[in-house]
Amino acid sequence: MDNATRLQYLEAMGIDVWVSRYPPIAVQAPQAVEGESHYDESSAAVDFQNIPNVVNPAADCHPIATEHLPPPTRPAHAALASEQVWTDLRSEVAACRACKLCETRTQTVFGVGSHQASWMLIGEAPGQNEDLQGEPFVGKAGQLLTEMLRAIGLKREEVFIANVLKCRPPNNRDPQAEEVAACHDFLQRQIELIKPKIIVAVGRIAAQNLLNTQQPLAKLRGSRHQLDNIPLVVVHHPAYLLRALTEKAKAWDDLQFALSVHQSLEN
Ligand code: SF4
Repeated sequence: MDNATRLQYLEAMGIDVWVSRYPPIAVQAPQAVEGESHYDESSAAVDFQNIPNVVNPAADCHPIATEHLPPPTRPAHAALASEQVWTDLRSEVAACRACKLCETRTQTVFGVGSHQASWMLIGEAPGQNEDLQGEPFVGKAGQLLTEMLRAIGLKREEVFIANVLKCRPPNNRDPQAEEVAACHDFLQRQIELIKPKIIVAVGRIAAQNLLNTQQPLAKLRGSRHQLDNIPLVVVHHPAYLLRALTEKAKAWDDLQFALSVHQSLEN
């Protein structure tokens, strides 16, 4: 591995790179004194590679072997930078006044869950409870969604849950096209940050907006769609299921289908 690549790896792993401006100093081995044995040859060779955040001053002369180092896929400092991006995005959403929903909201509802989620669930917009609590899918519909997730072996905190709109439309009316357009960039950036394996559109309104279609839910369910090259499946909204308990069997079918799509991605 050449020196430039080695430096890139060290930097990516969060190890400060020290470059000497001076030629290396020849180090003399301590002279053994008869009768004394403070110097232990077995411990004389310091293994700099196994000391975190310690830089090998001899590396300028003898590049350390880095072949065995893990690739810098998600080093600590990159994760920190990523969290800062999330914090900035959250602040941007909280301050947003790009559409008239800002005038009637109690607060924005950013989204909740794991930033490394494999599953991303997207609903249409906050309702009254969500607007008051600042979290998507709370109340009875939220509890049912949590149960639905549990039915396929997922904890709520393992997925990321967001909405097409970050602010509640008054009286829970449907989102308007200009509101969806104004809010689109926030959702897009969330998807790009999470890079989920699968997106689940929760309910007709979310599905129609995400897929830019007017097709009814019955036509959208049970098929594998694509959004930004990510597989997307459509499921019934839990609020609808609370009103139409007879539809729970269909909801189970939706979840089984979503699970099969997700499993096919892992093979
Ligand atoms: S709905 Fe979206 S675009 Fe409109 S004010 Fe809220 S955050 Fe901004």
